[in-house]
Amino acid sequence: MAAEAFERIALGERTSIPQLGFGVWQIDNDEVPKAVGHALDVGYRLIDTAQGYDNEEGVARALREAAVDRSEIFLTSKLRTKAMGVEGAIAGVRQSLGALGVDYLDLMLIHWPTPAHDKYVETWRGLIEAREQGLVRDIGVSNFTREQLERIIGETGIVPVLNQIETHPHFQQKQMLPYLASKGIRHQAYSPLGSGEVLDDPIIGELAAARDKSPAQIILRWHLQRGSIVIPKSVTPERIEENFDIFGFTLSDAEMGRISGLDDPENGRTGSDPETFNDLY
Ligand code: NDP
Repeated sequence: MAAEAFERIALGERTSIPQLGFGVWQIDNDEVPKAVGHALDVGYRLIDTAQGYDNEEGVARALREAAVDRSEIFLTSKLRTKAMGVEGAIAGVRQSLGALGVDYLDLMLIHWPTPAHDKYVETWRGLIEAREQGLVRDIGVSNFTREQLERIIGETGIVPVLNQIETHPHFQQKQMLPYLASKGIRHQAYSPLGSGEVLDDPIIGELAAARDKSPAQIILRWHLQRGSIVIPKSVTPERIEENFDIFGFTLSDAEMGRISGLDDPENGRTGSDPETFNDLY
């Protein structure tokens, strides 16, 4: 695999993160060891799970069986929405450490702000405490709006290292990206292929055919060239390999421009809207 694939980008003040990682949402405990094992064999070094995916035990199995040392793997998890407040967050981090069978996490995120419960500032304080206790190397958020970011930063003085948000050619987050950059917060793109829905876009298909690449490779390359951290998911070995093989070509400004034209902020979202998602799990 291309050596560049191992390149990491700076994260916060102390750590760095591989720009391309592997997401495991909707892969169950039985299936996840095989998928993560293959991803590690192929060269992925960032694994993105969450308490809500109910597969941390399976990820733990993959880590135990892997030929790769724990220290080489960047491991992210996310608090379930019930893990709220200072104590809830610290207990949540400890729970993930147990389930994943590790003594530290590289990154823990607040999965959803669930604004109706208005607890995310206290939950953020809990993650700050967990970091001070050395349970987690870095802390960040997911699905946060600009206003929610302003609030946690304003009330605690601690800036999350990244915001993981839905981002793909049909939902490009054109306002959020410059804002995050201005605050020194990394952008991490979840559902980078629109949970698969963007792969059939005719323009993406045209660009892929012209370069003899797959639609997924074109989309993932677009993410990398925007400077985002990207975490595609697949249970299919060939696709896991294909999604990692995106370092040997560069999209031109014209190609990037055509993809930029596919943005559809009104209708492009494939997942839940963080402003109204308040489920407790
Ligand atoms: P993706 O955008 O990564 O798309 C995954 C889908 O695309 C699957 O159906 C997969 O099929 C298919 N696929 C993957 N690669 C290819 C390929 N090369 N060719 C054709 N089809 C392909 O979806 P996700 O929504 O899973 O997002 C990725 C990750 O982002 C998650 O796993 C999770 O880690 C994170 N995430 C975070 C959220 C949050 O709230 N913070 C919310 C949603 C996702 P198959 O598996 O069958 O091969």
